Amino acid sequence: MTNELRVTVWNEYRHEKRSDEIAAIYPNGIHDAIATMLNAQPGIKAGTATLDEPEHGLTDDVLTNTDVLIWWGHMAHHEVKDAIVDKVHQRVLNGMGLIALHSAHFSKIFRRVMGTACSLKWREIGEKHRLWVTAPGHPIVDGLGEYFEVPHCEMYGEFFDIPQPDALVFISWFQGGEVFRSGACWYRGRGKVFYFQPGHETLPIYHHSEVQQVITNAVRWCAPVDVVGFREMSQAPNVQPLEKISDEA
Ligand code: ZN
Repeated sequence: MTNELRVTVWNEYRHEKRSDEIAAIYPNGIHDAIATMLNAQPGIKAGTATLDEPEHGLTDDVLTNTDVLIWWGHMAHHEVKDAIVDKVHQRVLNGMGLIALHSAHFSKIFRRVMGTACSLKWREIGEKHRLWVTAPGHPIVDGLGEYFEVPHCEMYGEFFDIPQPDALVFISWFQGGEVFRSGACWYRGRGKVFYFQPGHETLPIYHHSEVQQVITNAVRWCAPVDVVGFREMSQAPNVQPLEKISDEA
């Protein structure tokens, strides 16, 4: 493994091509905005992949050489091939980090790793969003205050149908009254998964400094850990005892 963290930012890349308003915010796509931001961080090298590329840009070679995969999708979740979801899932179980952003709550890969419906409430009126830190010792909140605000956002509200997180990093308050578990971590096999709510396509949320800080921190937290000789998660080996076991009492 190289010392540089290898990130792939995946985007379905449809909204930006169909709407001038969205293209004005993300001229080269949300994936490009996030990858450019990450490439300005020390020790991170980010590439991109999109839905309309062959194998959605997630070839075996790309997946093998990805430490952390960031996923953004909204209108085309159903177009993602199950065979690719299977491969991404196996990579997560074997150590690749996965960061699901905003509407990726309904992506095939996030629902697969969660095992629940991942449904929620939503409202799109551009209200204020305040994210409270609920795990002040967690690396994902490094550099933040006890809360930060996104001035205009899409509301996501509880009940969010996810399994209990292994660490809940943010709880959000929205101006309209709802709350939401907006930053949550899970372990899956050798891999780590982070869900992060901010990011509606018609709002410049990925240009927001605290949102960028969280994504950068999350990339570092999700990085694989090198466990020498650890088995593939698809294997369930029958093994010999480490100590000699005798029948004598
Ligand atoms: Zn949205």
